Amino acid sequence: MDRIVVIGAGVAGLSAARRLALAGHSPVLVAPDRVVPSRGETLSATAVSFLDGLGWSALIDGDTAMASQGRFSIWGDSALRRATGHEHGAHIDRSLLEGRMAASLAESGLERFAEAAVGLEHLPRGVRIGLADGRWLDAAAVIDASGRAALSGVPAADRRRLDRLVCAYQVHDVPDDAELAAATLVEAVELGWWYMAPMPGRRMMTGLFTDSDLLPAGAAKDGGLWSDVARKTIAIAARLDSLGLDAACNALSPQVAPAASIVPTHLVEGRVLRSGDAAASLDPLGANGLSTALWSGSQAAKAALALTADDPAPARAYECAFLEGIAHHLSVQRSLYAVERRFTDASFWSRRHASP
Ligand SMILES: Cc1cc2nc3c(=O)[nH]c(=O)nc-3n(C[C@H](O)[C@H](O)[C@H](O)COP(=O)(O)OP(=O)(O)OC[C@H]3O[C@@H](n4cnc5c(N)ncnc54)[C@H](O)[C@@H]3O)c2cc1C
Repeated sequence: MDRIVVIGAGVAGLSAARRLALAGHSPVLVAPDRVVPSRGETLSATAVSFLDGLGWSALIDGDTAMASQGRFSIWGDSALRRATGHEHGAHIDRSLLEGRMAASLAESGLERFAEAAVGLEHLPRGVRIGLADGRWLDAAAVIDASGRAALSGVPAADRRRLDRLVCAYQVHDVPDDAELAAATLVEAVELGWWYMAPMPGRRMMTGLFTDSDLLPAGAAKDGGLWSDVARKTIAIAARLDSLGLDAACNALSPQVAPAASIVPTHLVEGRVLRSGDAAASLDPLGANGLSTALWSGSQAAKAALALTADDPAPARAYECAFLEGIAHHLSVQRSLYAVERRFTDASFWSRRHASP
């Protein structure tokens, strides 16, 4: 029995399944038919090259992506500037892209159980996976790519939550007569930061990133209250106005997505390897969650193949490389937040300026 099971059909799980298939293995995917809505994600240039390495560059077309002209931000003072390091990426419809990745795997004969995994049991040389419909699957190794739910990380003794970041956001169709800029806009405010990103199909995502306990009362559910907070910004308010979205924002209930940073002490346990958000959930300010998901899915696949051949070295190397990457990400994130000094007394910023 050398079956490798991948849990979760997000970018990390699909990347892992693809890498295994490219290596000649026939993985089994355990993932319910559930669509996680797109949230205005930007695919970095690095992530685009990872997709290319998986032979999936053809999945990027006008329906799934639009070339990005970079990021503009108000951060540190009230001037609007172009931020460096965000050129050459793409604004994507992540759920459509995931659908295409899954379809490509199905076409190549991937076996899929459209059920949630509900439990994992370690065996001497493998893992037993419990499915929601009561069935059990035995595997020689498991890649847990179940996202922030992190099936294999529960109880979460080795996963540390660093903050309470959430995103209260809306997605709108942009009127035909409005000019849609292919760039993201980020604006720091006392409560946290606003993010605005175009999506393929003339849509626009606008979201407030703040800590869950700081979200103004009602702003997570009531479009009018959410819009009141948006109107206090400089560039975001002007952009919503110029796109003619004011009335639409008032009328729509925001959605709330968890976005807290959660970091692990280890990623490999017996023959279970975590990848993507199940391994580490990163603050979206850095916009590298998708590249991490693509890279780690692929690396976890290679390590899982080696584990089934009783070679633990690639799994150890994977864990080390990932933990080093997280440390680097956290240090970049700290320096980004350190630049903003206008709101040092506000809770959101004082929490991020405090020494770790
Ligand atoms: C508001 C917001 C904006 C973001 N913007 C960006 C951005 O601009 N750029 C960027 O690179 N990143 C961004 N990110 C981060 C990025 O979206 C994630 O890091 C990435 O999608 C993680 O992929 P994943 O496959 O690890 O997890 P997920 O996408 O969460 O996929 C996990 C999958 O597992 C499934 N699953 C869960 N539990 C089970 C179970 N028990 N059994 C089977 N299946 C299960 C889920 O249904 C899901 O399909 C953003 C995140 C947020 C919240």
